[in-house]
Amino acid sequence: MQNTLHRNKVVIVGCGAAATLLLAELAINTFLPFDIDIIDDNPASPLGIAYAVNHPSFVLNVAAKRMGAYVSKPDDFYQWLLHHPEQWRNLHPDFSSVNFGPDDFVPRMVYAVYLRQVFTGAIEVLEQKGVRVTHLPAQVIEISPVPGAVDASVYVRTHQQKIRADIVVFATGNNPSRKTTAATENSFDSPYTPEFMSQEWSALSDVAVIGSGLSMIDLVQFISSQGFTGNFHIFSRHGLLPLPHSTEHPMAAAPPLDIGLVGNTALQVVRALRCYVESNSAAGFEWQESINKIRPHVSNLWARLPHPEQRRLAKALPWWNIHRHRIPPSSYAVLQYLREQNRLRVTRGCIKGVDRINNGFLLHLDQSRAVGNPLKIAADRLVFCNGYAPGFNRVKKLGGELLSPDDYLRRWLIKGDATFRISVTHQIFALGPALSGLLFESTALHETRQQANSIAAAVSLLLHQPTNDCIKSYSLS
Ligand SMILES: Cc1cc2nc3c(=O)[nH]c(=O)nc-3n(C[C@H](O)[C@H](O)[C@H](O)COP(=O)(O)OP(=O)(O)OC[C@H]3O[C@@H](n4cnc5c(N)ncnc54)[C@H](O)[C@@H]3O)c2cc1C
Repeated sequence: MQNTLHRNKVVIVGCGAAATLLLAELAINTFLPFDIDIIDDNPASPLGIAYAVNHPSFVLNVAAKRMGAYVSKPDDFYQWLLHHPEQWRNLHPDFSSVNFGPDDFVPRMVYAVYLRQVFTGAIEVLEQKGVRVTHLPAQVIEISPVPGAVDASVYVRTHQQKIRADIVVFATGNNPSRKTTAATENSFDSPYTPEFMSQEWSALSDVAVIGSGLSMIDLVQFISSQGFTGNFHIFSRHGLLPLPHSTEHPMAAAPPLDIGLVGNTALQVVRALRCYVESNSAAGFEWQESINKIRPHVSNLWARLPHPEQRRLAKALPWWNIHRHRIPPSSYAVLQYLREQNRLRVTRGCIKGVDRINNGFLLHLDQSRAVGNPLKIAADRLVFCNGYAPGFNRVKKLGGELLSPDDYLRRWLIKGDATFRISVTHQIFALGPALSGLLFESTALHETRQQANSIAAAVSLLLHQPTNDCIKSYSLS
């Protein structure tokens, strides 16, 4: 039986940027004492892979004024830059005389300092409010029902222990990328490993890169800053490169998208969105502005479709990604320059096999996909920038039968009741890239920030129910 001494427990699985944003919102929203356990298996947390970087070439792809941690203060990061230069100026000699503006794309190593401060600041505030926060370095292997429980509590299991929790939030990020060949020496899993960073790049002439997304941009900028004057051979299944943010600041907003008119098949959705962008462009609005207007609706549009149509629409994801995950104009200029110099070539196709030659590799392309391209390419180094598998697969594995994402998600997305609760019977939530695969996309921090805000409000409501000495099991349907 629960008694008045019962302290509710919230377990957050994962301690990257998403968990940090959630803590920040919880610090604002909660007023009663409870316990938070944050469980993470990565020693680099609370930053995660995106922000655990240590070189100024790796920049944010969102302007400083939009990278604040709080829904109520979206420009908080820019204000921090402005008012606390002493916190970041000494991080690197390049920053000694720089002044970042609100529209600048700031190095992620600077953002990491901000994020760490948000994290420690949130914990301080929570502790002042009587909340106990415990950070456990462990891997969560399963979330399971508590047998015979009358409340909605669950067991969160790690290899070492079993923790009883009233509320669980998955902030587990994306799944790590999968390598596509068995190459080892002189090949790198990502452009963020210490081995990659310490290479003598200036002595090499050809680098092969698998993947053409944002990590590839990081790679190109980093290697170029190290005196590399050779060639980049970029391979991807779609052969598309990310597009730039607008350099203009539109005076008037594009008309809103009426999603009622968009249709109920993948083809109708694609046609309607294309028509929306084209008609706005004809009226003088930049395409970036139209994409920004479409963006808040994509998960909803996708959730409304039946499964076979969702699969069809997913084929448009590469096209969507290059328009939506845009890069700073300066990064785009670097790509354009290298392409003009014929030093950066993008090949649409899959790598079928890799042979070792001398100190490098001979890459064999899949003949059926490599139309009009060479079938073999030699390179000194091979780097994998092939992104991440959707994060929801990992959540599904851990949550199993407790989760009821599909119908439930569709219902609350359509009703607009987005609490990001992914179980009908238990208080289980997810945010950030942990939701990608369930939502059409869930990546950028300003989306995660909104999700953190909704979850913190829902958690706070549950914790503050006047009769609540334990959180009841109930259905929201
Ligand atoms: C290179 C890169 C650059 C980016 N740049 C930007 C940008 O400029 N602007 C922007 O808005 N967004 C950007 N993003 C997107 C976004 O900021 C990140 O995706 C965000 O960092 C995700 O945070 P997260 O906490 O959800 O995931 P992560 O940072 O991956 O953290 C998840 C944590 O959960 C842990 N974990 C997972 N499973 C378990 C388990 N079973 N048990 C215990 N722990 C577990 C992991 O070890 C990890 O530490 C970028 C992403 C990347 C990869």
